[in-house]
Amino acid sequence: MQHTVCRRWLTLTAAVLAIPATAAAAAAQRTDRGAPAPALAAEIDRRAAQVMPKVVAWRRDIHQHPELGNRETRTAKLVADHLRALGIEVRTGVAHTGVVGVLRGGRPGPVVALRADMDALPVTEEVDLPFKSKVRTTYNGQEVGVMHACGHDMHTAMLMGAAEVLAGMRQQLPGTVKFIFQPAEEGPPAGEQGGASLMIKGGALDNPKPGAIFGLHVGVLPKEAGQISYRPMGAMAAADVLRIVVRGRQTHGALPWLGVDPIVVASQIVMGLQTVVSRQSDLTTSPAVVTIGSIHGGVRTNIVPDSVVMLGTIRTFDLAMRDSIHAHVRRTSEMIAASAGAKAEVTFDNLAPVTYNDPVLTERMLPTLKRVAGDANVALGKQTTGAEDFGYFQEKVPGLYVFLGVVPKGGDLTKVAPNHSPRFFADESAMPVGVRTLAQLAVDYLSTPTPTAQVGAR
Ligand SMILES: [Zn+2]
Ligand SMILES: [Zn+2]
Repeated sequence: MQHTVCRRWLTLTAAVLAIPATAAAAAAQRTDRGAPAPALAAEIDRRAAQVMPKVVAWRRDIHQHPELGNRETRTAKLVADHLRALGIEVRTGVAHTGVVGVLRGGRPGPVVALRADMDALPVTEEVDLPFKSKVRTTYNGQEVGVMHACGHDMHTAMLMGAAEVLAGMRQQLPGTVKFIFQPAEEGPPAGEQGGASLMIKGGALDNPKPGAIFGLHVGVLPKEAGQISYRPMGAMAAADVLRIVVRGRQTHGALPWLGVDPIVVASQIVMGLQTVVSRQSDLTTSPAVVTIGSIHGGVRTNIVPDSVVMLGTIRTFDLAMRDSIHAHVRRTSEMIAASAGAKAEVTFDNLAPVTYNDPVLTERMLPTLKRVAGDANVALGKQTTGAEDFGYFQEKVPGLYVFLGVVPKGGDLTKVAPNHSPRFFADESAMPVGVRTLAQLAVDYLSTPTPTAQVGAR
């Protein structure tokens, strides 16, 4: 897939490309439409510091009242009320509970989007916090606790803070900032649609369409609070659900030769699939994972069942590898089944595309990350086989998604409870960096257009 970035507006603002005539002019180089960039940065920092007590309060409130995907009504109302109070145009009910805000700056310019996700997980919190979640609900027929075990409470609160920062300086903004508060990043409930793809269908990227989108995730890679890691191109994996139905022929367990045993065939397929990554994929290109996580078949000892259902997940970082792994999984499963006289029906369901950070945009925004977090606190991160549906936005517009460390300073990075753990703990001291990162990425994107038109193939 290829993105071509439209820079039509660039030609309209020739002033931005003018080279300052003197060193003094260079030192005071202005953004194309007004305030000097350093002045905007200082103002962001000043306003971010002011808004932090509110961000902490929102985060604790959201943490204490977590809501599962497509059920984020309370959180969405908190967000929408806040954006309206700031004078931001607000659309609610996008992809069920999503909120989209549009802040039009006082000066003409491009459009940039910032995204946060709002949903929690069916996890029972074990962290002893004064604002610990005690919420319980029914999920897939089971009674479960609900917890912001992935840190989306922080994402929402930090973007609310960034919205307040930017709304406070709207007259100086050279362009438009779009705020996308997304439901169901962790996946919608069974039988429902939701998340980034449904927000896009609901017009989250239209009217106006952003030229770039930014987002961040807390945790994921164990880093100290306030440290940022980034990775151009495939940063998080594409996740596909794999479903294999093996159809045999039912018979008496004492007379297996009168039927076709799908349990033995399923077992062979599980082992055969181990060779898809280890023997059939070019691992010098990128890593990949194929996992079978569930096998169901049979009801008692002496009946060979008719069929077995297997579920699994596939993680890849580029489209060619993904296509090739799908083909190999299908062929391996079908041929093993055929060798036994059974049939394997293989289907794939895309949960999330690759979180693909546009390399040109990443390079362009790297100085911003370094200025916000400090040079020593910004590092190239590893690829992670976790997945994130931010990639759907990145299929439509160039995007950059970075990770913000939330391990308390001096903490043992090897013993950190990861995201989705009931003991996941996120240090709030990282949040000022998060608020400043979001606001600063938006302002720098709007203020310093560069003539990059072509984005590489994915
Ligand atoms: Zn998660
Ligand atoms: Zn998450």
